Amino acid sequence: MRYAIFGDIHGNSEALGAVLGDVERMRVDRLLCLGDIVGYGAEPEACIRRIRSLGIGCILGNHDSAATGGTPLDYFNPYARAAVEWTADRLGGDEKAWLASLPLTMPLGGFILVHATLDRPAEWGYIMDREAAARCFDLLGERACFIGHSHVPVTFRRDGGISTICDVATVLDEGARYIINVGSVGQPRDGDPRASYGILDEGAGRVEIRRVAYDVGRAGRKILDAGLPPFLALRLEAGR
Ligand code: ZN
Repeated sequence: MRYAIFGDIHGNSEALGAVLGDVERMRVDRLLCLGDIVGYGAEPEACIRRIRSLGIGCILGNHDSAATGGTPLDYFNPYARAAVEWTADRLGGDEKAWLASLPLTMPLGGFILVHATLDRPAEWGYIMDREAAARCFDLLGERACFIGHSHVPVTFRRDGGISTICDVATVLDEGARYIINVGSVGQPRDGDPRASYGILDEGAGRVEIRRVAYDVGRAGRKILDAGLPPFLALRLEAGR
């Protein structure tokens, strides 16, 4: 099976459309979403509609949870909070009910999805270093755990010790375990403004991170026109 695994779309329908176009060319069997469909961007409803219409398996992100009242606003910085409040006003009851129904984790045989970390997933901790990765690895029964949340693509590998891999493609060794952050579709923060997502070829035991250019200017203009904080448009251009 070949999977496209993507998340942190954040209401950016330009980026989502570009990624789905790329996925089509990559001939995958199944699409999976790591959550944070909404928050920051100007088109949360359009992104939810697209994901639902394609029947994409999806887990819950912290912004999805906050937009439905599930995660308190004091978790967020002022820009994120403004976006959460704007998004919560904008979404209808059916969209909120669907977001609230999403699971925190999705085990899929050889691998598992979680938005933030397996270590208390509803507290939304970040895996930015080996200590945080170790806490997640300790709970990982599968060969690999796919995550988002930090918006920075990176892979942690445990085989005795824990190492960090920033390569575009990773071959999954038998006997090692992996935590793979596929980056963000709608708000990358690694200095590359292109949308980021992962392709898992389960048979070949290989993961590839793909970057896809999209109309960043248009997505930014929609954020400004919506009256969202201008910083949220600027950061798309910078990829930070
Ligand atoms: Zn996010």
